[in-house]
Amino acid sequence: MSLIPLAAIWDSPDWTLARNLGILLFIVLWLATAYWTFKDARRRIADPWLVGLATLVGLFPPFLGPIIYMFFRPPEYLQDARERELEIKAMEERLAQLDQRCPVCRARVEPTYLVCPVCTTRLKAACASCGQPLDALWQICPHCATPVAPSLPALEDVSPRPRRTTRRRTTSD
Ligand SMILES: [Zn+2]
Ligand SMILES: [Zn+2]
Repeated sequence: MSLIPLAAIWDSPDWTLARNLGILLFIVLWLATAYWTFKDARRRIADPWLVGLATLVGLFPPFLGPIIYMFFRPPEYLQDARERELEIKAMEERLAQLDQRCPVCRARVEPTYLVCPVCTTRLKAACASCGQPLDALWQICPHCATPVAPSLPALEDVSPRPRRTTRRRTTSD
């Protein structure tokens, strides 16, 4: 068994194939990690110039760049940040709805108030059947299912009369 000279191994077609495959694998992995950096940066960074810079870092130095990028990348996805902002806005709107004020004197009023206790301004109409406060847009009382009269009750409606309407009597009896 004779020793094969090194030069023969270097020039052998098998070695050339293995070397070329190794180079190809290196390039594919290198580009894949750089592409991953680009994709990740695009999801986290809004500024296209900074995304380009992050991609450059992902390319050079090869393989080390993406790790360096990971140290400095923003901790949050843009999508998550946007969703959180929307959530906060919705919460603020909900709080603003809770914080209702009298349109005349700006005193804080509860949603259940019929009149402003400070300036006696009429805030809401009461249900003709159960007396619960009704919102301006409601077509029907949510508490007792009585349809809301099209306009606010006039003064003569306040005069004492049987509370139960004829419609209710016909349906219940
Ligand atoms: Zn008031
Ligand atoms: Zn009612």
